[in-house]
This record gives sequence, C-alpha cells and structure tokens, in this order.
Amino acid sequence: MSDWEHNKEIQLFREYLRIPSVHPDIDYTPCLEFLQRQARDLELPVEIYYPGGPNKPILVMTWLGQEPELPTIMLNSHMDVVPVYPEKWTHPPFAAEMDEEGRIFARGSQDMKCVGMQYLAAIRALKKKGATFKRTIHVTFVPDEEISGVLGMKSFVPTDSFCKLNVGFCLDEGAPTVNDEYKVYYAEKTIWYVHFTISGTTGHGSLLHKNTAAEKFQYILGKMLALRKKAEDLLESDPTLDLGNVSTVNLTVVKGGLQNNVVPPVIEATFDLRLSIDEDLEALQQQLKDWCEEAGGDIAIKFPTQDKKTPATVINDTNPFWVAMQNALRKLDLKIRPTVLPGVTDSRYVRQMNIPALGFSPMAHTPIRLHANDEYLQADTYLEGIRIYENILPAIANA
Ligand code: ZN
Repeated sequence: MSDWEHNKEIQLFREYLRIPSVHPDIDYTPCLEFLQRQARDLELPVEIYYPGGPNKPILVMTWLGQEPELPTIMLNSHMDVVPVYPEKWTHPPFAAEMDEEGRIFARGSQDMKCVGMQYLAAIRALKKKGATFKRTIHVTFVPDEEISGVLGMKSFVPTDSFCKLNVGFCLDEGAPTVNDEYKVYYAEKTIWYVHFTISGTTGHGSLLHKNTAAEKFQYILGKMLALRKKAEDLLESDPTLDLGNVSTVNLTVVKGGLQNNVVPPVIEATFDLRLSIDEDLEALQQQLKDWCEEAGGDIAIKFPTQDKKTPATVINDTNPFWVAMQNALRKLDLKIRPTVLPGVTDSRYVRQMNIPALGFSPMAHTPIRLHANDEYLQADTYLEGIRIYENILPAIANA
C-alpha cells in the first residue's frame, strides 16, 4: 500500500476525485484550476471554450505533432459525475480513500475521472522518454455528459473551434469488465421513449363497455412485451451476444383512472426502448402505428425522445486508427472484444460528425460500479491502464 500511497500518478488521480463535480448545478471552476495546473506541469497549451454557456467549460490541452496539418487525435473525458447516496457508501464518496488492497473509493473512479487522468499520465511518461508523434493530440475535458451533454459535447461539435481541432479519431469512455477481456465500443444503441395516450369508452364501473382504454392498453402491452421477450430469448440462445446486440423494451410509466368505480377515459403508458444498430427504425415506427389501429384506434403516439441512428465506427482494415490500436493492444497480449454499448455517451455526437470514435476504459477484472454505491478502482488496475495508453497513443498518433 505504501508504494501506491507515494505514487505520483495515484496521488493526482485521488486529488481529481476529491473535487465534487457532482450533479446538479456543478461549479466546474475547481476542475479547471486543477486541470490547468496539470497542463502547466506537462507543458501543454490550454484553450477553454464555452459553447454551452458561461458555466459549461470545455478544456482542451494540446500536444502538437510533427505534422500538425494531419487530422488529429482527440482523447475525451467528462468532468462531471452522477449524484451519490452517501449513507450507502462504506467510504465517503469524495474523499478518495484507499484501503489495504489498494481500492480507491470515489464517485468518478470508474466513470470516468480515471480515464481523463490516465491520458495525462501516459502523456507524462511518453514525454519523459522524449517521444514525439506525427499527429497532434488534443485532450478534451467536457461538462455535463451525465445529463446528456446538451450543453457540453453536443453544443461543442458544431462550432468552428471544434472544427479547427481537425479531429480524425476520438477515444472516449467505455466500461469495466469483470474478466480479463477489454471491451472496445464501436457503436451505441439508439434511444426512443414511446408515449401512448390510449383513449376509450368511459362510464360506470359496474357495466361492460365496448372499446375501453384498458383493453387497448392490454393489446399494446402484449405487443411491446413480446418484443422484450424476443430480446431475452435471443440473448439466452446465443452466448456471443450481449445487451449491446439486442433491442430492449421496458414499460416505465403508467397513468390513468380517477376513482375505483369509474372506467378511465384515458390510460397513458411510456416505454423505454434501446434499439440495436441492426434495427430498422422506419419499420418499427410503422409497426407501432399499426398496433395502435389493431388495438382499436384512438391512440396517440408521442416520442419524448426519439434519437436518430448514429453511424457505427468502422472497425476493419479501412480504419487505420482501429488497426493501430488493435495492434498495440495485441502486442500487450490483451484480449479485446469489439462490441456495442448498451447505453449512450458523448461519442454519439462525435460519430454524428462522421468522426470515428471508440469507447475504451481499460479496467479489466473490475466489478462494474458505474453510477453505483462504493464505486472504486484498484490502484494497480489504474496504473495498468496508464501503461496501456502509453502503448496506444504512439500507435494512433503515428497512424
Ligand atoms: Zn461516463
């Protein structure tokens, strides 16, 4: 433990974790101060942009390449973290305490302050060795990813400032794995929230009315849960598939009715759909409409969220950055598994600009505690991640 206690990189990681950049209403100033200090130490110039407003900074450190006109590498991480239930934690969530086994407990230790600091640690190690690369590397620290990045990455990518970074390839967050595999996320599923307003015959609760909202709801619910069952069956039948490969459906909100003896005129139901990259979105939309008719009609559909399909990042020989990254990981003898992320990250905004982006958080043999109580990262897993980036960065910056 004493070794870890005195390791400079571990110390810096823990210092960053102690900044409570937690939702809601985050003051990012302490993050900016900390990161500017890191940039000075690394002798990297810094720019700060505010595309989403005065309290939504985007900090960019730049390591100039020998051929700065080439498309650049962007190493992205978000500064914000999700809220905590402190009473459910065995260690205070913003103290970054380390136990005897080297487990560092803090909100953000996995998601994703680790990755942001590992980029900088790898750059420090590479600079110490005197390394220089063809391509310029931009290390970006963005706000508000955890509240969908609307005032963060989403507002940054359409700006001139972003365009001038001339990004050719982006690395962003992935997720830990409990085994020895490292997952590389090349795509994300598409989110739809579908809201049905189901109208039907109202009246006395003692009668048998025709076309009640409940009967129509039963039809819709049956169809939606059949989709859910299809995904479950698919996952069970094929062990090579995971949640990223199937479309999930869940009923999340139901409202309706006023009194025990009155048949409700309206039932409202909302479903959370996470659609696989193979899903035909137009066909699905038509299917939903058809079901409403089949159920008896007088049903309105709204989509509180209906994302467009984000293009997947190509992972074959035509993507030189993927080839370089894959080779670097193979040289380290690491098992890698390209897959689709079941959730969404800021990578989607980068991919929507037709820039290839991969999600990668080097944390193997790690229980998944993203957004959970007692989020922690093992000190040696953290240090191993730095070593991995020390190998990936030269490969992609020279690709
Ligand atoms: Zn994250």
